[in-house]
Amino acid sequence: MRNPLSAFLLRLSESERAREFFTGGYGRRVADPLVKRFVAGESVYEALDVAHHYHEKGIASCFAYAGEELHTSQEVEEAVEKTLLDIDAIAEAGIGASMAHKLTHYGYGMENGEGLCMRNMARIAEYGKRRGVHAEIDAEKSDSAEDALRVYYMVHEIDSKSLLAIQMALRDSREHVHEVMEKGGSVRLVKGAYLEPEEVAYTRKSEVDRNFAETLKMGITGEYPQESRIAIATHDTSLIRYALELIKEAGFPKEMYEFQMLHGIHGNVLRALAGSGHPTRVYLLYGTEWYPYFMRRLAERPANTLFLLKSLFGK
Ligand SMILES: Cc1cc2nc3c(=O)[nH]c(=O)nc-3n(C[C@H](O)[C@H](O)[C@H](O)COP(=O)(O)OP(=O)(O)OC[C@H]3O[C@@H](n4cnc5c(N)ncnc54)[C@H](O)[C@@H]3O)c2cc1C
Repeated sequence: MRNPLSAFLLRLSESERAREFFTGGYGRRVADPLVKRFVAGESVYEALDVAHHYHEKGIASCFAYAGEELHTSQEVEEAVEKTLLDIDAIAEAGIGASMAHKLTHYGYGMENGEGLCMRNMARIAEYGKRRGVHAEIDAEKSDSAEDALRVYYMVHEIDSKSLLAIQMALRDSREHVHEVMEKGGSVRLVKGAYLEPEEVAYTRKSEVDRNFAETLKMGITGEYPQESRIAIATHDTSLIRYALELIKEAGFPKEMYEFQMLHGIHGNVLRALAGSGHPTRVYLLYGTEWYPYFMRRLAERPANTLFLLKSLFGK
C-alpha cells in the first residue's frame, strides 16, 4: 500500500488550489530549491544547457515538455505547435536527444479526443523522426494504458525508434511489455507514479519491485527481435545491480538497452553507469506547467516533503 503521505501528495497533484499555492507567491518561493532540483528550466533553451552538461559525460537526454490534461482544442493545438518548435531546437543542438510525450497533452481524455490525439501524435512522430528526435510515450493513469498501446503501435509504424513507457505497478504490464517487444517495439520500464486502485495495480512496493525484476528478466533473456529495446528507468540500485548481472550473463548487446533516470535524482549513479560504458539517458522535464510532475516527485520520497514542510513552517 502507498503510505498515507504519498497518497495525500498524489491527490494534491490534482488539486487546483494546491497548484495555485505552489506556483505563485510564497508557496513558489518555499518550493523553489526543490523545483530547481527536479525541473531543468522553464524554456527548452534552459533545458538544453542542462542537457549539454550531461552530454559531456556521455549521457543522452529525453526532453519532456511539461503539461498534461489539456481541455480545449486550442490549448492542444498550441501544445502541438510548441512541441514541433522545441523538436527543432533540440535537433539543432545535435546531441542525440529524444522527446517524451504525454497523450493527455495532445487531446487524449477530451471528448472525442482519441482521434485528435492519434492525429497529433502521428504529426509529432513524423516530424521527430525527420529531425532525429524520436518519440517516447510516457505512461499516465492506468485507464489510458490500453489506448496508449494503440497509439504506440501507430507511432511505431511511423518511427521504429519510438518507445512506450509501461508501469510495473500495473497487473497486466508484463503482458504489455511482451506484446510490444515481440512486435519489435521498444519499452521503458518504470515502477509507476500514479495512485491506482487495487483491482488494476499492485499496491505493495515489494510486489511492484518483483514485477519489475521479472519483467526485466523477460525483456533481457526473452530473445526478442533485435530492433526492440528496453529502457531500464529506475533509481533503485538493487534493480540496477540486477539488470547489470542479467546484461552480463546474457551478453545483452548495448544497442538493445539503456539506463534512464530523472534529472535531480541519483545523478552520480547515472554518471557511473555512463562511465562504465553503459548507454544512459536522463529525463529532463522543462516548462512552466511543472506542478503535477513536481508533486509526484515529492510523493516518492518523504524526505522531500519534510524538507518542504520545514521551509514552510520554520526549522
Ligand atoms: C526516466 C524515467 C521516466 C519515467 N517515466 C514515467 C512515466 O512515463 N510514467 C510514470 O508513471 N512514471 C514514470 N517515471 C517515474 C517512476 O514511475 C517512479 O515513480 C520513479 O522513478 C520512482 O521509482 P524508482 O524506480 O526510482 O524506485 P523507488 O523505489 O521509488 O526509489 C529508489 C530510490 O531512488 C531514490 N528516489 C526515487 N524517487 C526519488 C525522488 N522523487 N526524490 C529523491 N530520491 C528519489 C531514493 O533513493 C529511493 O530509495 C519515470 C522514471 C524515470 C526514471
